[in-house]
Amino acid sequence: MTEDLLARARSEVLEGGRGLGYADLVDVLRLPEAEIPALLEVAHDVRVRWCGPEVEVEGIVSLKTGGCPEDCHFCSQSSRFDSPVKAVPLLSHAEVLAAARETAELGASEFCLVYAVRGPDERLMAHLEEVVPLVGRETGLNVAVSAGILTPSQAARLAAVGTHRYNHNLETARSYFPSIVTTHTWDERFATCALVREHGMELCCGVLLGMGETVEQRLELLGQLRDGGPAEVPGNFLDPRPGTPLAGRPLMAALEAIRWIALFRLALPDVILRYAGGREVTLGDLQEMGMTAGINALITGNYLTTLGRAPQEDVVMLRGLKMPIGTLSKVI
Ligand code: SF4
Repeated sequence: MTEDLLARARSEVLEGGRGLGYADLVDVLRLPEAEIPALLEVAHDVRVRWCGPEVEVEGIVSLKTGGCPEDCHFCSQSSRFDSPVKAVPLLSHAEVLAAARETAELGASEFCLVYAVRGPDERLMAHLEEVVPLVGRETGLNVAVSAGILTPSQAARLAAVGTHRYNHNLETARSYFPSIVTTHTWDERFATCALVREHGMELCCGVLLGMGETVEQRLELLGQLRDGGPAEVPGNFLDPRPGTPLAGRPLMAALEAIRWIALFRLALPDVILRYAGGREVTLGDLQEMGMTAGINALITGNYLTTLGRAPQEDVVMLRGLKMPIGTLSKVI
């Protein structure tokens, strides 16, 4: 079975650029551990064939941290949980610009403005309509925004001021979402993802694995991601935050995480599949293996509420793997 499956992966995904179907993805999960190296080889070949050899490295900056009224059970920025993250007011234009310039000096091509909100209110929209063109004009960076659920007119306004990419994560499968979030629905999230694309912005749509969802629900999520048509999928692994309802959950096992990375690549051959939160604690020394399992981008440095490792460590890792770095090439 293994040979058939991997041969099909080579012809369908590697040659044809079509993601594996549901039955084959189930079989990937059944592959014995001894077959994992062969699986990773196909997944890595697929990412090089459809995404190129470079790894895109990105930093993220939180411009409005904490105090969010929503109750996403994994998130320490929710005001509903007794977590150590405290609300910080919106940064000024000067502070945003300074952060963007710092990012541009690293050689990055994209700067993502992240706000911990349910969705933008009029004050935040007015801020974004000034800041998005300002950052683009002053730094030459592509500007991405992550500011929660959008209305159609808000999506149109963000597109009109030049927002290049909009981040809105599905996080988990539709069937599991009510166990994780009760203050808004999965359908509201999906509707925003659709609006982003309808208005010509690129969709960045992430997932968070390890919240107690079943294997079937992860496969369900993959199908829903395919329906959403993202340009980029940040892959997060739960790093249980103190004070949140998921604080007591165990970390996902490292090899399980590696297998899921390969599976995502075989399901979504040409998306930017980015290492995001939780990779350090979940994968530890296997982070390099993940880079050869289908990942072609990473967030380096600190995440929104958790510490990542130093960017230099990632640079050393990528050098060791002989993987050229896309957006940070100027500082290497
Ligand atoms: S994930 Fe986003 S919407 Fe949910 S609580 Fe955190 S900041 Fe708010």
